[in-house]
Amino acid sequence: MQPPGLKNDCFALPPGVHWTPVDEAQDRLRAALSCVTGTETLPVMAAAGRFLASDVAAPRAHPPAANSAVDGFGFVGPAGEGVQAMPLAEGRAAAGVPFGGAVPTGQALRILTGAQLPEGVDTVVLEEDVNLEAGRIAFHGPLRAGANARAAGEDIAAGAVALERGTRLGSTELAVLASVGVAEVTVHRPLRIGVLSTGDELCPVGRVASAAQIYDANRPMLLSLVAGWGYEPVDLGHVPDDRETLRARLDAAVAEADVVLTSGGASAGEEDHVSALMTETGTMQLWRMAIKPGRPLALAMWGGVPVFGLPGNPVAAFVCTLIFAEPAFRVLAGGGWRVPRGVLVPAGFSKAKKPGRREYLRARLTAAGAVEVFASEGSGRVSGLSWADGLVELEDGARQVRPGDPVRYLPFVGFGAG
Ligand code: AMP
Ligand code: MG
Repeated sequence: MQPPGLKNDCFALPPGVHWTPVDEAQDRLRAALSCVTGTETLPVMAAAGRFLASDVAAPRAHPPAANSAVDGFGFVGPAGEGVQAMPLAEGRAAAGVPFGGAVPTGQALRILTGAQLPEGVDTVVLEEDVNLEAGRIAFHGPLRAGANARAAGEDIAAGAVALERGTRLGSTELAVLASVGVAEVTVHRPLRIGVLSTGDELCPVGRVASAAQIYDANRPMLLSLVAGWGYEPVDLGHVPDDRETLRARLDAAVAEADVVLTSGGASAGEEDHVSALMTETGTMQLWRMAIKPGRPLALAMWGGVPVFGLPGNPVAAFVCTLIFAEPAFRVLAGGGWRVPRGVLVPAGFSKAKKPGRREYLRARLTAAGAVEVFASEGSGRVSGLSWADGLVELEDGARQVRPGDPVRYLPFVGFGAG
């Protein structure tokens, strides 16, 4: 099933907007975008990483029947204060091998972890707490009725929604589906994300760069980033600063990708062909973000496909992908909008931050549980990205950060996962 496409004017900003705060840009993206991927039905084993296309109700309860949580002896509870003694019934109940009959009141039965509680048993005393002698057990009460037992359906009731539409199926979600006996699920097809680098100065790694060239760092970075998030990366290569070549590449990309990330050429300069070309479509919006690193983000629809024109600086391209594109990908792919909220961690640094924009600093946790930041804020410093395990997010207003002050830390692993 194919969902309706996105509207051509979906990225329009209200007139007069100058610098767009990050929160507002995120709200606008959230409102503008919707799922673009069709659905298919897959065996649960093949559905890891996909987003559920509909709620999944449990065909069976989990657990399906009351059972023992421990190895021990089962009887009808509760047991009173003091020493309790009971004769032991013949036989036992084990996981997968139920005790056939009913246990008479006043008697106990040997029972193992995971075994269904037979009729006449609702309470289990731990084997370690019991003295077994001459066919009788003795232990110290009291023990409440239901102790060490799991009720039928206490985890998931039959017919209840086990997982909601839009949930991404990670390993733990597959466990939930399998537990209630779901063998097949309807999920969204993987989102195909095209990655294109632009710029006359770029040389792909593996070729010999001339003195005037730099290596294309963004393409391997962005392709592997989106692949790591479970999306389908589509390598659209690299194009020089030439409008017609770029046009042809974007035209071809529409058939291969559901969304395109370009980097470089997104500002309003004379060699900024991404923004110039996308302006021709009439759908282009240059969002000037109140963000460091980053600033311009060119957004447009190209042949029905949303294009995110990222800044060329690798650090800015990376940060803008995390902050704007990643939550957008989740929506396009059939998941819900989600922005990582991060955690408050004591600062291991000082900084006087100016008002008027949100700042993201390359950061990592220290052994002492503080967060330190990379020595340079230069947005061309790729080494700082690799040094970092996350970002410190400093809010839009002015901020004087002193060591020990709480700052918001967004670990890289919090993006895209789960
Ligand atoms: P631009 O956004 O095109 O003005 O580029 C900003 C800066 O990022 C320039 O210094 C570019 O050379 C650099 N840059 C652009 N694309 C890439 C890339 N794919 N890899 C590394 N650096 C890049
Ligand atoms: Mg450029």
